[in-house]
Amino acid sequence: MKTVFYGVLLGVTAVSGFAADEGIFSYRVGRFEIFMLVENQGQGRSSLLIGADARDIERYVPGGTYQSATNTFLIRTGEKNILVDTGFGGAVFNHLKTLGVEAAQIDAVLLTHLHGDHIGGLQKGGKPLFPRATVYLAQEEREFWAGSANAAAALAPYGDKVVTFRPGALGADIPELLPGITAIAAFGHTPGHTLYLVQSGGEGLLIWGDLIHVQGIQFPLPGVSVTYDTDPAAAAAIRTKVLEYAAGNHIPIGGMHLVYPAIGTVSPQGNGYRLTPAGR
Ligand SMILES: [Zn+2]
Repeated sequence: MKTVFYGVLLGVTAVSGFAADEGIFSYRVGRFEIFMLVENQGQGRSSLLIGADARDIERYVPGGTYQSATNTFLIRTGEKNILVDTGFGGAVFNHLKTLGVEAAQIDAVLLTHLHGDHIGGLQKGGKPLFPRATVYLAQEEREFWAGSANAAAALAPYGDKVVTFRPGALGADIPELLPGITAIAAFGHTPGHTLYLVQSGGEGLLIWGDLIHVQGIQFPLPGVSVTYDTDPAAAAAIRTKVLEYAAGNHIPIGGMHLVYPAIGTVSPQGNGYRLTPAGR
């Protein structure tokens, strides 16, 4: 019922025509169609948590294990096909096929950051797997990984079609990167970690990359970080700010490591927050 309530409140229509086990969730933002694509799912262990004591773990991550996922997002604006991250480069290609979108029809790839589970689908054997795409990423992120062979190998096949930009501050009036899309700085997980706010027809979706890895504990306790965070304290600070922003402004969110449907609304609960998954 809560999902329906929020849907009505926000005028957001969830239009999934797919079963959960297909790993695709479709969602409408104004005239944009957005598809959350599951790359893989599995089990994670609480040993990656930073800043949680044994009691917190027992309460929010019972047994010390949690359901983990990796996702990508496809945005179909009507004019352009835009992919946000590429996962490991596995299931994303099957999902695109299911949706009738060829890799050569992807116009842009927006990267949240340069970890392997986000850039793994960019290239194979030095050939770009999205041959017509322009790749966008934060200047800060590109600079941080300047010495990384993996990052260089992922980006090199796109040559001068790699575009860097400086993401804006959360809540600021930010010029659009592409029509309907703005890039927001959420540095901490990595030094150039970027969120993409997608807006159309008065509706929005904040695709937040790796802001949260373990949803069972990081919504109620946003101060908890993970070992993957380059700067755990900065990651916790921006996580708290973004949760407050999403809840306060009623902006639905989508995440690369949230479990299916990986899109939902954030609301305050106790000293933290909770996620209400989008209707299916
Ligand atoms: Zn990740």
